[in-house]
Formats: sequence, C-alpha cells, structure tokens
Amino acid sequence: MERHGAYLNGVWVVATELVPNVNPSDVTDVIGLFADADQELLDQAVVAARSAQPGWAAQSPQVRADLLDRVGAAIDADATALGTLLAREEGKTLPEAIGEVRRAAQIFRFHAGEALRLVGDFQDSIRAGVSVTHVREPVGVVGVITPWNFPISIPAWKCAPALAHGNTVILKPAELVPASAIALAEILDRAGCPPGVFNVVTGRGSNIGAHLVSHPDIDAVTFTGSEEVGVSIAAATAGRLVRVQLELGGKNPLVVMADADLDLAVDCAVDGAFMSTGQRCTATSRIYVEEPIYQIFVDRLLARTESLRIGHALDPATQIGPVVDGRQLAHVVDRIEGARALTDVQVHGGRHVRAATDGHFLTPAVVIGAGNECEINRSETFGPVASVQSVADLDQAIKRANDTAYGLVAGICTSSLRAATEFRRRADTGIVTVNLPTAGVDPHVAFGGRKRSGFGPKEQGRYAQEFYTQVKTAYERA
Ligand code: NAD
Repeated sequence: MERHGAYLNGVWVVATELVPNVNPSDVTDVIGLFADADQELLDQAVVAARSAQPGWAAQSPQVRADLLDRVGAAIDADATALGTLLAREEGKTLPEAIGEVRRAAQIFRFHAGEALRLVGDFQDSIRAGVSVTHVREPVGVVGVITPWNFPISIPAWKCAPALAHGNTVILKPAELVPASAIALAEILDRAGCPPGVFNVVTGRGSNIGAHLVSHPDIDAVTFTGSEEVGVSIAAATAGRLVRVQLELGGKNPLVVMADADLDLAVDCAVDGAFMSTGQRCTATSRIYVEEPIYQIFVDRLLARTESLRIGHALDPATQIGPVVDGRQLAHVVDRIEGARALTDVQVHGGRHVRAATDGHFLTPAVVIGAGNECEINRSETFGPVASVQSVADLDQAIKRANDTAYGLVAGICTSSLRAATEFRRRADTGIVTVNLPTAGVDPHVAFGGRKRSGFGPKEQGRYAQEFYTQVKTAYERA
C-alpha cells in the first residue's frame, strides 16, 4: 500500500498518522494511505511559505507565468491517469473526472497569462507636479481549504491565481480526496516550483484546518465548503482582520416557462440536478415549472431520470457514479425519506441500490409537490435530488426562486427574451443561466455566490486578482 506524506518546503515529509483513502464505487479498493498531519507539520509548512514568499514575489512575472504554464501542460499530458485517480477517490464518472482535470489545466494556463497581464494605473494628482500610481502587490501567505467534490479543479482555481500574483500557498484539501492534491503537488514539484512556494498538508479540517485558519502567520484564507464551516472561518479570522473568501452551499432553482424548448429544459434539469451525482454547489435542486406544461415536463423528467445508469465510476456504461461516502449517503437518504413522509408529496427514486461492486449507490430522486417551506427545498442536500413545483407565471417563479437563504446560481429555460431579461435582473444570485444547466461554468469569468452562498471577492477569471492582490497608492513628486 502506497504511503503519502505532506509536501512542504519542496520535500516530502512523512507523517506519523496515516488514514486510508477508500473508493466510493468499491469500498474494498483502498487507493493509498495518506497523512493525517498534526499541527506541528502545518506550522512547518507556514514557516516554509513565509520564508519563500518575498523571493517568489520578487521574481519576474515571466518566471511565475512559465511555471504555471508548465503545470498546465503537465496536467493535460497526464489527464487520463489523473482523471482515473480522481474518479476512484471521489466517485464521479471517468469522463466527468477527465473533464475536471482538463479544466484544472486550463485554469493554470489562464493564470499563467494573468501573471503577465497584471496592471496598475496612473493619474495626475490634484497637486501640481505630483503623480499617483496604483499598483497591485501580493497579499503574502495564503491558506487554501478545499472541499471533496472537485478534488483538482477547486485547488487549481485557488492556487493558480495565488501563485501567479506572487503569493505562497498552503493547501489543505478535504479528507476524502487527498490523492488528487498530492498528485498536483508532484506536478508542481516536477515543474520546478521553488521550495516553500506551494505546500500541501493533508489531514482533518477540525484539526489542521482550524489551526491553519487561526494561524498568526497567515495573511489570507480562501475556503470552499459547507456554510457551517465557512461561518466558523469568518468568525475565526475576523479578530485578526485576515482577508477571507468563502464559497459555500447552494439551493439553486431552475425555472421552466411554458414557452421553453421542452427537450432542452429536460436536458438542463437532468444535467443540472444529477450529473456528478448532484454533488456540485451549482447543482439544480429546485425546479419551478409554469402550469400549462407542468405535467408533461414531470412525465418527461421522470422517464429520463429512470433511464439513467448508476454504477462504478470507471465503468464506461455508468452515467451517475456513487455518493462520495457512507456518511453523505446516509445524509441524502435521510433528506429524501423526510420528503417521502410528507402528505401530498411523491418521491420517485432516491433508493440506496446494490451494484456489482460494494459502493454507495443511490438512484436519482425526483420530489413532486413539496412546497418551498419543506426541508427538501430549504437546506442544501448535496446529492442527486430534484424537487419540482408548479408555478402560475414568471412573477411567482422568480419570487419562489429567490425565497431561499442561498444565492449561487439561478437558471431559466424560455424562448422569450423579455422573460429571460426580467429573470436576469430579478434573480438574487451571483450567477444566472438562460437555456443552460445551472451547473457548468467557464474558467475565465467571475464565479461566486451571494447571501449565504458566498462572502468576499469573486473567484476565477480576472476577478481573482481582487482577492490575491492588494492595492498600493503611490504619490510621487519628481
Ligand atoms: P466541509 O465544509 O465539510 O469541508 C470543506 C473543507 O473544510 C475540508 O477541507 C475540511 O477538512 C475543512 N474543514 C472542516 N472543518 C474545518 C474547520 N473547523 N476549520 C477549517 N477547515 C475545516 O465541506 P465538504 O463536505 O468538503 O464540501 C461540500 C460543501 O462544499 C457543500 O456545502 C458544497 O455546496 C460546498 N461547495 C461550494 C462550492 C462553491 O464554490 N460555492 C463549490 C464546491 C463545494
């Protein structure tokens, strides 16, 4: 069995405690033993990142760009092997996993360019003979804490811009998916990343995650994960005024208008709700259908849902892989059973099923007739579950769509420009989609939610520099 330590200061350090990384498609398949690092190891990573940071910031942006470009190329070159590893440890299907790996490569390449594109601006002072420039400088040492559902692309979309702009990084990946983060560290190492610039420490969030967040020598924390942990991080960093960015949960609505292309709308619903086993923060979980087409939409959605093949992530016939682990499966089943117990609510699917291998397989669930006040429509489930309601018109659809604590993505399917424009204006979310699934975003544009879905500057694209740089205003008299 392969044993993996932490990567810090450019070397691999053995940890005393190791935990198995288990394949959710087949619990008899153990991918390896990974470090359950202690706080001392984390402290060593912070020391390494701190001492490497001034040198990395002083490098020519071309040096940083070249490193990120080499990393992007290496990820692409290894996409099948990395995708297979990712599918084994997280459970998304192999095509989904390879797609995620290729996305990580794109992100590194985009941010290679961003290292060179970083600009300031110049203007005259209101005082004669004085000029003013704004320049962007790195923030310093960045703590990166990531969830299990995108084991390589979320680390990439945080670490690549951090490194591009001269920061150094300590990555703490989710306990369930250490292998992809370790593989990323191996790639950065081979690409010639200087010691201490990029560090990975695996272990428990409640232990080293909390320690990283409260560490006095960290300048910024970027976190993607659950609302509960995000709120605790905001509280832990507030006292020290540490810069913080939180990407949290969602309860994303899809509105289907009577004038929508029905095939397209069903495709959007199935893709948004069930692909990647519904384990996407941008997944569709609430579907509001205009009354005249409600029944025909439900019939088509059920027919498509029942035809989906659930199974081992590496089986080419599989369309939906397993839920990530037994705990998450129990949570999702509990939510589904809560809906099933309601009067006047029907639940189709949502059963724990057996397959050829011993995995956490769940048939996708369609919940019909649960009102907005029901738990299934209020808290994030994070599994293959879609709840469908009928609505009288666009106004009611928008009001119901916005009736949530979350604000990540809202989608609409319609052939009316007027309806699409009104929806875009009134949706209280960070992202809006029209005639597209709620999930599936581009790497070169802003990403992030509002309300309880996100806090702090946006991620990705040009907007990433808002978090990973700080502005300095310089007044100069010649
Ligand atoms: P989680 O909050 O349990 O864990 C996320 C990370 O935080 C892990 O690395 C974990 O080890 C760490 N952590 C746990 N406790 C901590 C603590 N006290 N201090 C510091 N770190 C701690 O979330 P998860 O179960 O891994 O991921 C699923 C959640 O992530 C869902 O709610 C989902 O919506 C959200 N998510 C959001 C986005 C987004 O961009 N909005 C993207 C993907 C996932």
